[in-house]
Amino acid sequence: MINTLSIARPKKRLFLGLLLAAEFLIALMLYGVWKISYLGLENIFEYLPAIVGAFLIFISTFSFGALCNMILAVKGLPTLKLFHRYSFAIIKFLFPVAVRIGKIFGIKRRQLEGSFIAVSNLIFMKSKIKVPANKLLVLVPHCLQLANCPHKITRDPNNCKRCGGCNIGDLMKLSDELGFIFFVATGGTLARQVVIKNRPQAVLAIACERDLMSGIQDVYPLPAVGVLNIRPNGPCYNTRVDMDEVKRTLSQIIE
Ligand code: SF4
Repeated sequence: MINTLSIARPKKRLFLGLLLAAEFLIALMLYGVWKISYLGLENIFEYLPAIVGAFLIFISTFSFGALCNMILAVKGLPTLKLFHRYSFAIIKFLFPVAVRIGKIFGIKRRQLEGSFIAVSNLIFMKSKIKVPANKLLVLVPHCLQLANCPHKITRDPNNCKRCGGCNIGDLMKLSDELGFIFFVATGGTLARQVVIKNRPQAVLAIACERDLMSGIQDVYPLPAVGVLNIRPNGPCYNTRVDMDEVKRTLSQIIE
């Protein structure tokens, strides 16, 4: 078993706090731009400053509402469905600003991505989503395979001989036992194709922070939960996954 105690658990507050800070900063900048261009707008049309101002207030209030909705979801409180479909779009827009604010405080992008995954997973679990095993797709990256393994598993994971050399064999055994769809993806495009082809009801993805963050957003509105891989040999090489965490997550999703 891999000791996960040494792996720092990302804080959910970090992601939400920095997104709120990014939201506040952008709202302030929009106000500044509006104020500077006030006279110019008025020259074009008497009511244009008011129209533009109302539009900017609407956008800022809406994205603030979506962030508050996420906080409510994390706290397990009732949320407004209206905001759900826009949440990831707002995250995509605010995230680069949040990363820059984080940098000022010495917070790395990877920490922020890890915090996003923690928030997203918590929302997933609080939604109490349960799917039949054959409607669950488990997607893993190619780097989980032992680098010198001669068996080609990206087209067909059944080519794995379950020799115990890497976690692919453990996941194949679990897939045989529980019946979930298992696939090893070499990239985001292939992962998306697998999702379209198999039409799962939920996805459990194993990957690094960056790939999980983009993957979870890419498959939306399909519910997706992420498990971080472990990289004892550096990124993208002979990575591992905590099988206890995978089993725990599977038991929470499969009906
Ligand atoms: S478990 Fe063994 S056979 Fe299967 S992918 Fe890993 S090293 Fe290859």
